[in-house]
Amino acid sequence: MDVRAQIATVFHLDKCLGCHTCSVVCKNIWTDRKGAEYMWWNNVETKPGTGYPILWEDQEKYKGGWEKPNGELRLRSQTRTSALFNIFHNPNLPSLDDYYEPWTYDYQQLFNSGPSDDQPSARPVSMITGKYMDVEAGPNWDDDLAGSPVYASADPNWAALSPEQRKQLFAVERLVFFHLPRTCNHCLNPACVAACPSGALHKRGEDGIVLIDQDGCRGWRHCVAACPYKKTYFNWEAGKSEKCILCFPRLETGEAPACFHSCPGRIRFVGVLLYDADRIVETASVPREQLVDQHRAMILDPFDPAVIRAARISGICADIVAAAQRSPVFKFVKDWRLALSLHIEFRTLPTLFYIPPLSAVVDGNDSEPELFADTDRFRIPLRYLAALFAAGNEEPVRYSLRKQQAVRQFRRAATASDITAATVASSLSAADCTPEEADAIYRLTVLAAVGERFVIPPLHREASIEAALETGAAKGSLGFAHATRGKA
Ligand code: SF4
Ligand code: SF4
Ligand code: SF4
Repeated sequence: MDVRAQIATVFHLDKCLGCHTCSVVCKNIWTDRKGAEYMWWNNVETKPGTGYPILWEDQEKYKGGWEKPNGELRLRSQTRTSALFNIFHNPNLPSLDDYYEPWTYDYQQLFNSGPSDDQPSARPVSMITGKYMDVEAGPNWDDDLAGSPVYASADPNWAALSPEQRKQLFAVERLVFFHLPRTCNHCLNPACVAACPSGALHKRGEDGIVLIDQDGCRGWRHCVAACPYKKTYFNWEAGKSEKCILCFPRLETGEAPACFHSCPGRIRFVGVLLYDADRIVETASVPREQLVDQHRAMILDPFDPAVIRAARISGICADIVAAAQRSPVFKFVKDWRLALSLHIEFRTLPTLFYIPPLSAVVDGNDSEPELFADTDRFRIPLRYLAALFAAGNEEPVRYSLRKQQAVRQFRRAATASDITAATVASSLSAADCTPEEADAIYRLTVLAAVGERFVIPPLHREASIEAALETGAAKGSLGFAHATRGKA
């Protein structure tokens, strides 16, 4: 057992307001620079929809992530030989049109235009060419479906749905959507790290944050092609790639990342997970239908004495283990099995987990709406959520939705009188949930204060040993820039 500590995160989609505060905060702090105008390290998409960059989930188009053609795990984007040729031309890279052409407005026009019968207007100006332009796309162009089903019907997850389920999503006046905030997943098996020919990308040993060494980056952009989530970006001014840094300067001083701290919906949680790094390759290689379970299985129980002993041998300090025991991420992912990874079939083993959204309280997909409809009759088809969060496997999503639904009923019974105790008891038992667990889920989801949502340990940079190492030396070891100190 090779125990590692990972700063991991959970987004509770049932609580997301789609307000984009997170995106704007990140933009203002990290990407408000020349060459980075089009980058949104944090973006919020509407689902169903095509996302940013457009159709990023379609790996037939972008060839990101890992595949197992002959049972052996390998990058989809490149082989050793093609990596060399792709330096000169990489056919799988998104173009600026796939993102959007960033723009500002000619505000001076508002002050300097001469007398006229018409109100002056600020025309859009391209931030690339400096010329006037017609705006035709943006990073959230299909926000809230933008009044049109066109983007939603181009969603790559659409393919999983039957004609009836597609009709159900688009039923007039029952149209349904939800918001999907996305950042880098700081994966355990990061395709971006494995693809970098310069060894500039690395995963920090002490907390698992995936970073790009700006001095080491040569701008080959193999990481951009390899990341199936399209969460590394090329800075056309600096000639280097960039990505979300999980606000590590804030984490190192005990502060939550800026997009987490600012989220008015309080949908975001940060905590430490302990996991077994010896199982990375094995887990990323299992058949599709086992991915969710195996990913969860490699997360270790921080209360288990054997794990605590192995963690100490691996050089993990006692205060990090203590933080792992209080981690809200551990509770949501492992204890309660509510949170799942986005597109686990890309096999990068994300450490950002999502709690899939419930549909409206009054639901049911026919003309007879019902209070607390069964999860299989939700307006958002189970199969659609399964395509997003469980590689098409409906069972883990059904489990999460059932438990959330049972907690909803549990609270409804406590605050209104239209549900009997017997109904609540039967839904809790069907959802594999006790009243104590339902209460704990409710408290962490709804009432938790900052210190419970963000459990950030001291990161012990002083004890980190990879800072003095050449990160390229760890190439081929799935990106760990961290020499193993010992194994249990
Ligand atoms: Fe790398 Fe994963 Fe982040 Fe993509 S999402 S940039 S593969 S760590
Ligand atoms: Fe941006 Fe920090 Fe949020 Fe990453 S964690 S998306 S760098 S604000
Ligand atoms: Fe708003 Fe938070 Fe959702 Fe971002 S994640 S859109 S800040 S509610």
